[in-house]
Amino acid sequence: MLNKEIEVLGQIIAKGKGVQLNLDIAKLHTPIKIQVPIIVERGKKEGPTLLVTGGIHGNEINGIEIVRQLISKEYNKPELGMVICIPVVNVFGFLDQARQFPDGRDLNRVFPGSPRGSLASRFAYHIIKEIAPLVDYCIDYHTGGDSRFIVPQVRIGKHDIASLELAKVFSPSFIIKSARREKSLWETFIS
Ligand SMILES: [Zn+2]
Repeated sequence: MLNKEIEVLGQIIAKGKGVQLNLDIAKLHTPIKIQVPIIVERGKKEGPTLLVTGGIHGNEINGIEIVRQLISKEYNKPELGMVICIPVVNVFGFLDQARQFPDGRDLNRVFPGSPRGSLASRFAYHIIKEIAPLVDYCIDYHTGGDSRFIVPQVRIGKHDIASLELAKVFSPSFIIKSARREKSLWETFIS
């Protein structure tokens, strides 16, 4: 992305700078606003933007820790381009130790969302409106949860040659050419 000036959630991100932003579009059942931290780091040179997300399902905590460690070890500070990390997308579910949003909806089945939909739908809408237009690549971490066991794998689109080459970089045991999951973050990004 060859933008000279990049704005995320209304804040200009200068080259070589980083910032922590908060997406605060919803409240708990009390008046307390939920803040979803978004950590942005921009390299000194122009380049693509990578989005790294964990915890779209609030009880899948391994990905949350992976993104947290990426930030802690400063792997998210690129030489070029920009890295946007959202360690816990579904803060609501994470607090509840639940997969879903408090409205019972699975966030990863309501994209691209709606400004007047359910809580999950409105949240998805803001992610797509505010963050997605900036993004060239996305790594979205999922893990097993509840009684689900998932073998470590990288999932890519069936006919996505570029993602196949990128997936190989991780040297995973399996690369799954997966069908689109309707109304997922992934489907919304590639469509
Ligand atoms: Zn998941």
